[in-house]
Amino acid sequence: MRILITNDDGIYSPGIAALAQVASRFGETRIVAPDVEMSSASHSMSSNRPLSYKTTRLPVPVEGVQAFRVNGTPADCVTLGCSLWDKVDIVLSGINIGMNLGNAVWHSGTLAGAKQATLLGLRGIAFSAPATETEQPDFEALKPWVSTVLESLLEVPELKLVNVNFPARAPRGTVWACQSVRHYDGKVVAAKDPAGRPIYWYTVVPIEGAEDASDLRAVQQGFVSMTPLRLDLTDHEQLARAKSLEQIRFA
Ligand code: MN
Repeated sequence: MRILITNDDGIYSPGIAALAQVASRFGETRIVAPDVEMSSASHSMSSNRPLSYKTTRLPVPVEGVQAFRVNGTPADCVTLGCSLWDKVDIVLSGINIGMNLGNAVWHSGTLAGAKQATLLGLRGIAFSAPATETEQPDFEALKPWVSTVLESLLEVPELKLVNVNFPARAPRGTVWACQSVRHYDGKVVAAKDPAGRPIYWYTVVPIEGAEDASDLRAVQQGFVSMTPLRLDLTDHEQLARAKSLEQIRFA
């Protein structure tokens, strides 16, 4: 099995090294990731400029794993990585420093890496872990859980796109969860630049009041949440309703 690894925190993030260390036990593994941080880049693609693909040394090299840095987005890295390496089976994205729960999937570059794999007809899994202002996730402690999750997900080829989030402390187990859609975790904070001019920061604020069985609730309760996602964004209920109204109108 060929495993391509990407992220949105940049190729020198400790999270990508941790993921590659675990993945390399499951198959032939290669890292192709952005040369700088691309968090919140979502699914953007560099269609108006050329990309470079350069071999690089990780701060902590992973045995048997080559690493390539790309001056592009996570989605660029997956497209380029899969075109320059034949027969990739699955793309793993992360481990992101920070959660990608609920509606954050819309702006997440981590998830976009996995999503681009699915668009190419491959499988994709995104991994994210909580971080505080001062502390990174404990990647060493997460590694056995990444392994457990991979073992169970790889067995089910029907799972094309899965969003995995780790809780803040030692997990109590893994659970399947739906995407929380109740809140969006971003807001705009006004401030002043050194010259006194108004500036605005987009920032993440904690989301509260998650639905039962949602990804957010699962990690709040100390579980690893696993959410299968699909590419079809069609609101089938409303589509059927709109069609039936149309039939009445044109009857
Ligand atoms: Mn990130």
